Amino acid sequence: MAIASPKKPKNKKNGTPPPARRGWRALFGGPSFFSNLITTVLIFLLLMSIYSLVEGLAKPAVDVPLSVVAADVAEGKIRSITVNGDSLGLVYTDESTKVSRKDPSAGLPETLATYGVTPEELSKVSITIRGQSGFQFWFLTLAPILLPLLFVAAFFWIISRQVRGAGMQAFSFGQSKARVIDPADSSQRVTFADIAGAREAKEELLEIVDFLKNPKKFLDIGARIPKGIILMGAPGTGKTLLARAVAGEAGVPFFSISGSEFVEMFVGVGASRVRDLFQLAKKAAPAIIFVDEIDAVGRVRGAGVGGGNDEREQTLNQILVEMDGFEPNEKVVVMAATNRPDVLDPALLRPGRFDRRVTIDLPDRRDREEILKIHARAKPLGPDVALAVIAERTPGFSGAELYSLMNEGAILAAREDRKELTQYDLIRSIEKVMLGPERKSHLLSKKEKELTSYHEAGHALVSSVLENADPVHKISIISRGRAAGYTLKLPFEDRKMQSKKQFLDDIAATLGGYVAEEMLFNDVTTGPSNDLVVITALARDMVSRYGMSDKLGPVAFGERAMGNEPYSERVAGEIDDEVSRIIEEARARATAVITKHRKALDAIAKELMEKETVERAEFEKILIAHGITPKAKEEEGIVIAPPRP
Ligand code: ADP
Ligand code: ZN
Ligand code: MG
Repeated sequence: MAIASPKKPKNKKNGTPPPARRGWRALFGGPSFFSNLITTVLIFLLLMSIYSLVEGLAKPAVDVPLSVVAADVAEGKIRSITVNGDSLGLVYTDESTKVSRKDPSAGLPETLATYGVTPEELSKVSITIRGQSGFQFWFLTLAPILLPLLFVAAFFWIISRQVRGAGMQAFSFGQSKARVIDPADSSQRVTFADIAGAREAKEELLEIVDFLKNPKKFLDIGARIPKGIILMGAPGTGKTLLARAVAGEAGVPFFSISGSEFVEMFVGVGASRVRDLFQLAKKAAPAIIFVDEIDAVGRVRGAGVGGGNDEREQTLNQILVEMDGFEPNEKVVVMAATNRPDVLDPALLRPGRFDRRVTIDLPDRRDREEILKIHARAKPLGPDVALAVIAERTPGFSGAELYSLMNEGAILAAREDRKELTQYDLIRSIEKVMLGPERKSHLLSKKEKELTSYHEAGHALVSSVLENADPVHKISIISRGRAAGYTLKLPFEDRKMQSKKQFLDDIAATLGGYVAEEMLFNDVTTGPSNDLVVITALARDMVSRYGMSDKLGPVAFGERAMGNEPYSERVAGEIDDEVSRIIEEARARATAVITKHRKALDAIAKELMEKETVERAEFEKILIAHGITPKAKEEEGIVIAPPRP
C-alpha cells in the first residue's frame, strides 16, 4: 500500500558507511579464521606423517654387517657392490639386494681385506664407486632444518591468503589496495561520450583533462592547477563514472580507493595506505587518485556519538598531509566523490585541498533520454520503442536506475525469447525498478482485495482532487516489493524544489489510503504503516528543516542527536505539536475529499477489484463520470523541453 512517487530531491540520507568492524573479529575475520587455522594445522600434521612414512618405506629392509659381506664376497655370492659414501648397495647373484655400511675413511678393498677377502675373490665382484653429489650432500644436510621452515612458511602463506579472502589485509599492512586502471586497457576505458547529461560537470572537468594531457603548457606559464576536485551528487548520478572518464579522456592511470575501506582497518593502516597510494601515483604521474565515498573518512571531526574515530581521523589527516605536500609541479590530481557533502569536514574543503566542487544533479528529462540511449547502444530496440516517453515517465531516476531499467527490459525480452526490446518491456521495467518485482504469487483474500482496492482508490482520489498533488498514472493492487498495492503518481515536470502547498497535498494524498480504510471498514489495518512513516518524516522536515511552520517560523533546527542538542526541550515539544497539527489537518482534508466524492471512490475501488490494474485513461474516465476534472494532460505524454543555451 504505497504511494509511488518519484523521490524528492531533498532529504537524502544515503551513503552512511557500514559500521566499523573492530577488535579481534576484524583482526581475524571472525570465527571462520579459527576453523581455517584448525584445517591448516591438520593438513600440516598429515603431511608430516606422510613424509616420515615415505622416508621409512624408502629404507631397504635388509641391513647386513660387514663381516657377512666379506664372507659373501669370499663365497662368490655377491655380483656387484655400489659404494656411496659410507653406504654399500649389494646385489647378490640371486638378484636380491641388501645394504651395509663401512668406515667412511677407509676404502672398500682395504676394509674387505681386513676381513680376509683376497684380491682374487674381490675381482669377481664389480664395484662402482658413486661419490655423493654436491646437491645430495647439501640436501641431506639441510633438509632437516629447511623442511620445517618451509612448512611454517607455507602455513603463513595459506593463512594470509584466507584472511585476505575474508576481506582483511592483516598480512599486507600498509600496502595500498588501490585499484588501478591502466590507460592502455581499452576494455576498461570510459570517456565523456559514455556519460550523458552532466554538462556543467564535464565542462569543469575538461580543464583537468587538458592539464593532465599537457601539463607542461600549464606549468610553463605558472598556472596552478587544482589539486583536489570533489564530486557531489546523489547516489547513482555517475560520480565514479565521471572520475574514470577524466582519466580515460586524458589517457592517464586511475588509482581508486574507497573511503569506506578505511573504516574497518587497524589504527595506522589507513594512513600508511594513503601514503603508499600517493607514492604510487606520483611515480606514475601524470595520474589521477580517486577517493570514492570520502564522507566515510572525511566527516566533521569530533562530532559523532561516542567521540571520534582515531583511524578515520588519521586517514583523513594523512590525505590532507599528502595533498599539502604536493610540489607545485606535481602532476597528480586528486578526485573524490560523496553524496553527503553536508557532513564533510571543512578542513577538506579549504583552498589548496578539495577546493573545486563539482555538483552533479539528477538528470532531467532530456538527460534521461540521452542516458537511456547510451545504455540502449548494445540492445536491439523494436520499432515501437520511444525512449522519450520512458524518459518522461521517470522523473527522479538516477543514471544508475536508468541503466538498470534498460537492463530489466532486456531481461524481460530475453525471458520471453524475443530478439528485440519493446516499449512495453521498458514500461514494465520502470515500475520494477521503482517498486521492486511484482509478486503475483501473493494472493489476496476477497476481504483483503476489497480493502486494498479502497486504500489505493483513496490515494488516487485525494491526489486527483487536491490542486497541488501529482496526477495519477496508474493504480494497482498487484503487490510489489513490500507494498500490497500502489498508486503511481508522476509530477508534470522535473522538480528541483517543492513548495509547502505541494507537501501538504502530498501528505493528504498519502493519508487518503488510511482515511478510506477507516471510513469504510471502521477499522485500520497494519497496511498503511509505511504511509505513516513517510508522512511523519515529511511533516517533521517541513517544520524543522524547511521552516514551513507558521508557528515556529523560518528556522532550521538541525538534527538532534546525543550530545548535540541544537534546541531546547521546549522547542522539541513544539516541533512535535506542529507535526501532529500538520498531519491532523491533512487528515481532515483527505476525509472531506473522500466524503464528498464517495461515489467516485466506490467506482474506482470496484474497477480495481475487477481489473487489478487501472491505467490513467480508464481512471480519468471514472473521474469525469463523477464530475471531477482530471489534471491537465501533456500532449501524447511528451513535452519537448526548450533547448538550453
Ligand atoms: P555514483 O558513483 O554517482 O554513485 P556511478 O558512477 O557508480 O554512480 O554510476 C553507476 C552507473 O550508472 C554507471 O556505471 C552507469 O552505467 C550509470 N550512469 C550513471 N550516470 C550516468 C550518466 N550520466 N550517463 C550514463 N550512464 C550513467
Ligand atoms: Zn498506501
Ligand atoms: Mg560511486
